[in-house]
Parts: sequence; C-alpha cells; structure tokens
Amino acid sequence: MDYIRTEAYGQLAITQSTEYLLIPSCLYGFHNTETTTGIAKSGRTVFCHKGTLDLPEEERLCTCGRRMHINTHPDIYIRHLSIGDNLSCLLFPHNQLRCPGCGATKSQHISFKADGHLITEALHQYICDLLEAGTYTNKQIAELTGVGENTVKDIDKKRLQSIYTTDGGSKLIKPERKARFLGIDEFKLHNGRRYATHIIDLETGHVLWIQNGKKKQIVYDFIDHVGMEWMSSVEAVACDMNSDFQEAFEEKCEWIQPVFDYFHIVKNFNDKVISEVRKDEQRRLYEEGNVEAARALKKTRYILMSNRSTLQKKDDEATANRVVHKGSSLFKTEDIKRKGGNEAKYDSLLNENKLLFTLDLVKEKMSLAYSMTDEAKMAEAIIDIMDICKATGNKHLLWFYNLLDHHFEGIIAHATYKISAGKIEGINQKIKTLRRHGYGYPDDEYFFLKIMDMSRKVYIRNQPSHKICD
Ligand SMILES: [Zn+2]
Repeated sequence: MDYIRTEAYGQLAITQSTEYLLIPSCLYGFHNTETTTGIAKSGRTVFCHKGTLDLPEEERLCTCGRRMHINTHPDIYIRHLSIGDNLSCLLFPHNQLRCPGCGATKSQHISFKADGHLITEALHQYICDLLEAGTYTNKQIAELTGVGENTVKDIDKKRLQSIYTTDGGSKLIKPERKARFLGIDEFKLHNGRRYATHIIDLETGHVLWIQNGKKKQIVYDFIDHVGMEWMSSVEAVACDMNSDFQEAFEEKCEWIQPVFDYFHIVKNFNDKVISEVRKDEQRRLYEEGNVEAARALKKTRYILMSNRSTLQKKDDEATANRVVHKGSSLFKTEDIKRKGGNEAKYDSLLNENKLLFTLDLVKEKMSLAYSMTDEAKMAEAIIDIMDICKATGNKHLLWFYNLLDHHFEGIIAHATYKISAGKIEGINQKIKTLRRHGYGYPDDEYFFLKIMDMSRKVYIRNQPSHKICD
C-alpha cells in the first residue's frame, strides 16, 4: 500500500472500509480523515471529504525572517471532480498566518486550488476540456460538474482570452496567416437593435476581427491592427452593397478590389424588390375587388423566392409519390406525400402578372451571371438585367437598377475573384445559433470571443469519446 504514503497523493481515510475504495486523489498535502455524504439543493448526493492540509515549515517563514503564527483557520470548502452523478467537495481548515514581528499576514497556499475559484485544479481542467470540445452548452457543463453557470462562463472567457488575445486580454491576436480574400459583414447583437461587424478570412472562414457598430472606423481599426505589410497580400474584399466598408478599404489600400457577392445581392433582391412588389400587387388586387387573387398571392412569398429548378424537383418527387414525412402506426400518424403542381402554380401566378414574370426572369439571369468566370461576359449579362429592370418602370426594380449601376465594377469583379457566398452565410448562421443557445451574452466581449472560437472549430460528426476526454 505504498501509494497511500506517497507525498503526492492525499490519503483517503474512511469510515467503513467495506463501502469505499482507496484511490489516489492528486491533492498535494491534503489528508482525508473522514468522508461523509450529504444531499445538495438539487437533490444530488455530495461526497464531502473532510481533512487537513499540511503546512510546511518554509511557508511559515516571513519575509522579515521570523516564523509566522497561525492566526485563524476558518473552514474552506472547495469543489472537486464529480463521481458519476454525485458531486464531491473538500472541507478543511484554511490557515491564516500572521507575523508577530512585522505584522504581515497571508493565507496558506493551496496547491490544488484553481486561481480565482473555489474549485480544484482537476475540476478546472475538466471544465476546460468540456468547453474545448464544444459539444455542451455552458448550462449543461454546469449541471455535469456541479459548479454555477457563471463560474463556467468565467472559466470559458479566460480560456478564450488566453487563445485569442494578447497583452493581458487588451488586444486581439494577429491573424494566423496572410489572407487573400476578406469578407466583411454586420450582424445583430442580442437585443436586435445594435449591430456589430466581423471581418473574416474567406478561404479559412476564420473570424479575424469583431467590433461594435457598422462604421468605416472598424475597417481603419482593423488595418491598424494587422498592419500594411499584412494587408499587402489581400486582393479582394466581399461586402454588402448597402455599406460603405468598401470605400474605407479603398481609401487605405487602393489595390484591393471590392466584390459584391451573390449572397448579398440575392438578399437585397428578395427583401427590397420581391417582397415589396408582391405587397403592391396584393394591394392593387384588393382595390380592384379581386379578393381571391389577392389571397392567393399572400401565400406565394415562398414560391416567388424559390428557384424554378427547386419547384421542378418537388413536382418530380410528387410524380414519384415520394414520402416527405414518414408516418407511424405507433403514434397513429400518416405518411405525408409531396404535393405536386408547384411549377404550374408558379406559371399561373406569372401569367396573371407580368411584373412577377419579370422578377422571375431577373432572378434566373442573376444566378446565371454569377456563375460566369469572364468579366466581359458577366458585364453583358448584368447590363441585360439592368435593361429589363428599367423597362418595367416599377419603382422597386428601378431601385435595383440603380443598385446594380452604382456597384457595377464590384459586381462583375466576381467573375475574376471567385468568392463563394457560403463562408459568409455560414458565419451568419453560426452567430445565430450562438445567440439562440442563450448564454444570455450581456457580455459582448465573451460573445465576440465565442464567435471567433466557433469560426475555427471544424465540425466532426460523432467525435470519438477519447478525443473529448483527453
Ligand atoms: Zn514578518
């Protein structure tokens, strides 16, 4: 039984030897004299390991050279690793020392306690491992380990600061590599009124910079942060047409080509043109007393915004009698089969309305234009789209005409700089997921660090469990 006497392990003395195992505790200097069980507020069992902590003679030595006295020794309560569903803690007198000579005071050092929290190093490490794996929410980790959610958040924030900041958390790290293509986009903060902006490396998807607001100053600050030498490798930046970020980039780094990507152009078209035209049409039909047609139009937002190929695919599935939702005899639900006639409905909508037909045409042509890899050909295709918009005389399509006109160069640059919309869209989705997970995030700094971390995580399906525990 050598290991019990080994200095590195505390000794687990027990009340009834038949009910307990002797295991190494890795709690240096701690001597377990008794272990009792109690019930926590949550109803879970708590193993309370009572004991004492060695006080080495050298720790009692004051800086003035005299030997310090033990002034008081209040009990300290430190959480330790849980055992299955049971929580565990250590309870021992914590020596408070005082020098009779100079009057200096200090608390005895506890080698196995994590800094800043009443938990052991071992528990702290376990929480860090769970956070690092990214599988659980903070709330779930709090439940697994028995510590409070705020403690988990504190630990996570420090962990992220150590990875993504320097100078004691006051500065973000420099990007890990030089980027060729950047993406810049804004996103809503949790209250939905304020905005923040992120800059990503479009090849890796890594978020490199996040800042409150949506002003040009963000771009200036980012360039200051990475430096001109780093910026010299950037060839293009993808952005939304409704921002002035591209101007800020061009002012500082004239060689950078702004590119207006497909994701943002479609978003603008859907939100500012299709939705508006549909609303106008509905209003017109109601005014003309054609209530039935107006009602029909009300449900067509989805149909109008989806591509013809999507509708055709659904109709093909309907023809093939495809089951889209499996029924169950156990729960007495029936199979739901794909309904057909999607494309026919679309066509009849278009026939009733010439303007809707134009929207359809613009959408199809836009998708085709963005698949082109030759700037001259893409320019031709965009001019064609602009002509169609202008010919309608419709105010929303004229707005879109102007949008294309004012951003023409940046749009056709897409043919040269193949910038996929996927990475930008992916980051936006991840931000939404994070916000929904509801860590509350009244703490922007924590939220932003979490976004940076998430952008660097590769999703692995069914991660092997030893990877999580390592
Ligand atoms: Zn002293």
